[in-house]
Amino acid sequence: MFNSLSDRLTATFKNLRGKGRLTEADIDATVREIRRALLDADVAVPVVRAFTAAVKERALGLEVSQALNPGQQIVKIVNEELVGILGGETRRIRLAKNPPTVIMLAGLQGAGKTTLAGKLSKWLKGQGHSPLLVACDLQRPNAVRQLQVNGERAGVPVYAPHPGVSSEFEAATGDPVAVARQGVAEARARLHDVVIVDTAGRLGVDAELMQQAADIRAAISPDEVLFVIDAMIGQDAVNTALAFNEGVDFTGVVLTKLDGDARGGAALSVASVTGKPVMFASTGEGLGDFELFHPDRMASRILD
Ligand code: GDP
Repeated sequence: MFNSLSDRLTATFKNLRGKGRLTEADIDATVREIRRALLDADVAVPVVRAFTAAVKERALGLEVSQALNPGQQIVKIVNEELVGILGGETRRIRLAKNPPTVIMLAGLQGAGKTTLAGKLSKWLKGQGHSPLLVACDLQRPNAVRQLQVNGERAGVPVYAPHPGVSSEFEAATGDPVAVARQGVAEARARLHDVVIVDTAGRLGVDAELMQQAADIRAAISPDEVLFVIDAMIGQDAVNTALAFNEGVDFTGVVLTKLDGDARGGAALSVASVTGKPVMFASTGEGLGDFELFHPDRMASRILD
């Protein structure tokens, strides 16, 4: 049976309470519980190691006089460290001074980019913006159509590369970099103040995909590059995030499929190894299943 970290630490508190001071052995026992909880939440092993080392260092430095309830103090430290790595405050989209604000999506195939494009456009529309979606995922046969369906549902137009597939505009080419560039130009011409560019993903990170994403980034100079990652990815989170960070130097992270069993450890892994903030969470297949990411709530989810 799975016990929450709170339960485990409460058990450890019992041993700690009544002691005048913390010994290194006390702290080690506590740190072991924290390590186990993070691994259960699927935080990547190297991230767990660095995290617990930081907690231990702070715990060892605790003022004994303040240590009325050392266990609670350690929980506070763990929470502060988690929230800090996750970016502290919720990070909002940076809007361009000269519209349109260009938002590019990148990530592995199946991560949830196309779904997110629809969600994000609907959300922005609800905030009074006038978004345009641009379909640059030309790898997956159905991706353009899927984006068009999401656009229709969200009531947001889609700039797509295949003429005659019920797109509102016609793109002149099937080259994703050219489509991205034209999509942004189209947004500017038609006075859309935000443009969301969906890009292709592969099942695994590959050089060609990354080069294409990097070329699109260079062509459209986005204000935000959102790295979309499936919360269920587990230990692969670190390598995938590092590859995309190197390839497209993303500015923020969107964690998808948080409605599943995943406890969100991927958020900590990605934020920790890249230093980039998690900005949004996707919590289902519906267009409304989308929210701003709150580091404090995720810290509780990981620790619960
Ligand atoms: P892409 O290849 O990155 O564009 O991924 P898609 O947007 O096509 O999503 C892949 C699958 O995951 C689709 O079946 C989506 O309906 C599903 N999906 C996307 N986001 C979520 C989410 O937050 N929760 C759940 N349960 N499913 C999602």
